[in-house]
Amino acid sequence: RIITSYNQTEDNINVVVRVRPLNNREKKSGDTSVIQFPGNGQVLVDGIPGGPSGGQKPKLFSYNVVFEPAATQEDVLQFSGMKRLIEMALEGFRCTCFCYGQTGSGKTHTLTGPPGLFGVRPAPFSDKHGLVFRSFLYLFQLIQQKTDVHFVLKASYLEIYNEKVIDLLNPGSARKPLAVRWSKKARGFFVENLFTVDCEELDDLIAVLEEGLRNRAIGKHNMNDFSSRSHTILTVYITSEEPAEGGVFLSRSGKINFVDLAGSEMTKKTQSEGKTLEEANNINKSLMVLGYCISSLSDSKRRNSHIPYRDSKLTKLLADSLAGNGVTLMIACISPARSNISETLNTLRYAARAK
Ligand code: ADP
Ligand code: MG
Repeated sequence: RIITSYNQTEDNINVVVRVRPLNNREKKSGDTSVIQFPGNGQVLVDGIPGGPSGGQKPKLFSYNVVFEPAATQEDVLQFSGMKRLIEMALEGFRCTCFCYGQTGSGKTHTLTGPPGLFGVRPAPFSDKHGLVFRSFLYLFQLIQQKTDVHFVLKASYLEIYNEKVIDLLNPGSARKPLAVRWSKKARGFFVENLFTVDCEELDDLIAVLEEGLRNRAIGKHNMNDFSSRSHTILTVYITSEEPAEGGVFLSRSGKINFVDLAGSEMTKKTQSEGKTLEEANNINKSLMVLGYCISSLSDSKRRNSHIPYRDSKLTKLLADSLAGNGVTLMIACISPARSNISETLNTLRYAARAK
C-alpha cells in the first residue's frame, strides 16, 4: 500500500501530500523517518520535540490523497486528480497544479523530474519524467480521441523572482522584467509581452518545458539556491472549436498552470543568511498570500468574500484559475527526515488549511 485516499478528488481545491524517500545523506548520518501512514489519506508525525516532559503527542493530518515514498511518478499522475484537471482544461476550465514545500522536499522532482532528462530529440520516455511531461502525454492522448473538435494549443513559461516577472522563453540578455496588468476586457491580470508559443505537437510542448528549464538555470552561480527563491509558472492555453447545431461553432478556452513554488522555508533562511529584507518579504509574502487566498476559497463561507489576489504577482497571475470554476491541485511535498520535522509540520499545516 503506497497511496491512500479518503475521498476521491471532486472538490474545487484538492490537496495531496507526497513524501519523498530518505536520501543517502540522511541515511548515512543516521537520520530516521518521523512520518507514519495510518491509511485513509492520513499522515502521522511522531517524534515532535518540545514540552517539559520531552516529546509532544504525535500529530495527525488528513488530505485527499497521500503518496508514500515508494509511489512512482506515474502514480502521481494517475491518483492525484491531475487527470481531471487536464480533462477540465479541455472542456474550457482554468486549472492550476502547484507544488509547495521546503527546498529539497521534491517539488521540482514531482513536476519535471531530475535534471538532464531532456535534450535528446525526440525525448525518450523515462520512468523519471515528472507530472508535467506525463500531463502533456495525457493531454495529447485526449485530443487525439476527440476527432470532431479542433484544438489550438499555446504555452508560456515565466519566473517570478523578488516580485519581478521574467519570461523563461524569451529572457533577453538583461532579463528585463515584464509588467503585470489588468485587462478590463478580459477581466483578468496578464503579463504584458509574454512570449506564447504555438504548440501543434507534443514535441512542441516538451520543447517549451526544456527551453524554460534551460533558461531558468542560465547565469546562476548556484542554481539550487536561486530556484529555491523563485516561483515558476508554465501555462498551457487550450482553445477549441466544436461544430454545434445550426452550423455554428462552440468555442471554449481553458488553461492549465503548473507552478513550482519557492521553498517554503525562505522566511527564516533569508533572515539567517542576511538576505535583503525586500527579497525575504517578497518570497514569503507571495506564499502567505497564496495560502490565505486558497484557504479562503476552500471555505464555502468565505469563498465569496474579498480574496486578496492583488497582494502578490503570483496570486494575480493565478487569480482567474483559483477563483473560477476550475480546479486547483496542491501537491504538498515533504521530507520524512527527523532533521526536517519543523518545516514538515509547517508544510502539513499549510496544506491542511487549504483543504
Ligand atoms: P525541491 O524542488 O523541492 O527543492 P527537488 O525536487 O530538487 O526538491 O528534490 C531534492 C532531491 O531529492 C533531488 O535530488 C531529487 O531528485 C530527490 N527527490 C525528491 N523527491 C524524490 C522522490 N520522490 N524519489 C526520489 N528522489 C526524490
Ligand atoms: Mg526545486
